[in-house]
Amino acid sequence: VIELGQPEHSAITTCAYCGVGCGFKAEMKGNQVVRMVPWKDGKANEGHSCIKGRFAWGYATHKDRITKPMIRKTIHDAWREVSWEEAINYAASEFRRIQARHGKDSIGGITSSRCTNEETYLVQKLIRAAFGNNNVDTCARVCHSPTGYGLGQTFGTSAGTQTFKSVEKSDVIMVIGANPTEAHPVFASRMKRRLRQGAKLIVIDPRQIDLVKSPHVSASYHLQLKPGTNVAVITSLAHVIVTEGLLADSYIAERCDDKSAREWKEFVARPENSPEAMEAVTGVPAHMVRSAARLYATGNDQGVKPAKPVNGAIYYGLGVTEHAQGSTMVMGIANLAMATGNVGREGVGVNPLRGQNNVQGACDMGSFPHELPGYRHISDSTVRGTFESAWNVELNPEPGLRIPNMLDAAMSGSFMGLYCEGEDIVQSDPDTQHVGAALAAMECVVVQDIFLNETAKYAHVLLPGASFLEKDGTFTNAERRISRVRKVMPPLAGYADWEVTQMLSNALGYPMNYSHPREIMEEIAALTPTFKGVTYEKIDEFGSVQWPCNDSTELLGTPIMHIDKFVRGKGRFIITKYVASDEKVTQRFPLLLTTGRILSQYNVGAQTRRTANNQWHSEDRLEIHPHDAQDRGIKDGDWVGISSRAGDTVLRAEVTERIQPGVVYTTFHFPESGANVITTDSSDWATNCPEYKVTAVQVMPVAKP
Ligand code: SF4
Repeated sequence: VIELGQPEHSAITTCAYCGVGCGFKAEMKGNQVVRMVPWKDGKANEGHSCIKGRFAWGYATHKDRITKPMIRKTIHDAWREVSWEEAINYAASEFRRIQARHGKDSIGGITSSRCTNEETYLVQKLIRAAFGNNNVDTCARVCHSPTGYGLGQTFGTSAGTQTFKSVEKSDVIMVIGANPTEAHPVFASRMKRRLRQGAKLIVIDPRQIDLVKSPHVSASYHLQLKPGTNVAVITSLAHVIVTEGLLADSYIAERCDDKSAREWKEFVARPENSPEAMEAVTGVPAHMVRSAARLYATGNDQGVKPAKPVNGAIYYGLGVTEHAQGSTMVMGIANLAMATGNVGREGVGVNPLRGQNNVQGACDMGSFPHELPGYRHISDSTVRGTFESAWNVELNPEPGLRIPNMLDAAMSGSFMGLYCEGEDIVQSDPDTQHVGAALAAMECVVVQDIFLNETAKYAHVLLPGASFLEKDGTFTNAERRISRVRKVMPPLAGYADWEVTQMLSNALGYPMNYSHPREIMEEIAALTPTFKGVTYEKIDEFGSVQWPCNDSTELLGTPIMHIDKFVRGKGRFIITKYVASDEKVTQRFPLLLTTGRILSQYNVGAQTRRTANNQWHSEDRLEIHPHDAQDRGIKDGDWVGISSRAGDTVLRAEVTERIQPGVVYTTFHFPESGANVITTDSSDWATNCPEYKVTAVQVMPVAKP
């Protein structure tokens, strides 16, 4: 704890970084945070925190904060500080001018997973009601959109099945494409406690993450696959379970769709899906896949069926979703859990580890071009009718544009205006050159953010945002837990983000008159069945609630989903055929690059780089195996050039055996390292989630830049 004096007042609030959603007591002296104390009654963290959360307050009052609205005619002009009224009116008149010239669908917006549920709800409402189209998307497009699709198809809803506490009852834990120690540290500690008590661990990852071998914890099996071969591994695990008679037959018969189960079993049992047949593709020894499959299904690696069910839990991250087959892999994970009866009780389940503090909430709130709040399709006339009556508008029944579609449409001249709230797409989205060119082609880009980020360099209007300490609202974490965010200081620029969206809506002629975020949550609850029982009073009294929360659930909602039946009724198996990535190694690009995160920095680093965290990790580095380094004459700490089909960048090398030969790895926390300059525009077939995890590259030594 860093102490900056004696606190005068305090409030319980929620960390604004990762999807764990730790509760904190923010202790204040006037408008200065003096310390952030992890909240012992916070159900997600039980008094624990990581180094990101403890120092998060540092960015809130950083000198780089934007506190005045600014406008400029072109992106080559200097910024001009203006009043809020002038900035809002200018943005509204530009949006209306663009629509008059290019059509109603020529503008759209991006909601923020950093903002509250109430703010996200308001942005999608603005776009649907005031813009008159469904051109709304969110950062989940580039992270967990395949989770939405895959779990929706198999289970019927787009969310993790468990509460974090559930891991305390797990016997076997499978971690796929996630690095909880770095990205979800407080949950990682809870998982490690369970592993120290004797639970078994299987890790599926191209890289040797900390969990594979750390003090007091090690994986029984590390399936160190080649990047891009997840689906081959999950299907071969299923092959073993089906062909060795390890299925939970009575669970499947009772809980799952019969026809889909039959077809799936026939498919995975084919010889071409065996671990032996897949070994050349995945690089994982077949005997390890066989043992890992037995361990997950039975709790022992001989595959001896136990007398009572073994609890197998799967936790996964962006190493699953950010692939051309991201959605297929999510469905493969769901298949595996259903096949072994591992859904619907404590200790089991399918658990996406959400990256951002409120990415679950942003998805819940209707941030997708095809879905209204509560994951209901925009083409459903009954659902649409409910919102039309409440909002007093006629809604467009056609799904709108996703972020990559907006960017492509900008290049062809049909999408000319963007409202981007709390999202730095230039740094976070793939193929930076394309993103920049598309933004530069637009006639009006409105950025609402707390810092002048990379995307703001293409903006015509800059509206200052507010940090999590400057507003009221709620965040929803990766376990569907809705917790309060409480204002402990006034917004530096005068308004919280929900108030800015409201002003813009009013200027566009669609009236919004909320006086507090509580009223927005009341509207969400009235229109969204899964939120019907969510109230500020209940959260204030009990600390948090988990959706679904309504008349048919417990008072505080639903810790474990799909207990008696799946949300869609019967669980549905989907055939998951492995298709090789388009990103293939060649003589010119002989290595595969994959990306990830480190503990002390957060995402694009806009916040953590402005806190004490920067002292622990102040640059991105390229991890390279000693064999590959030696072949190229690269030593630890050398500068190296990395080139791909999309672009080039320069980083310093870290020579390490954490990464396998033929694969290199980096993080993307610093704009100057330009990790996304080299990632390509290849994406998931169902959702357009970018394939960040597989890029063919060459690495060569270069002189210090
Ligand atoms: Fe908790 Fe995540 Fe914040 Fe760390 S970054 S304190 S794990 S919510």
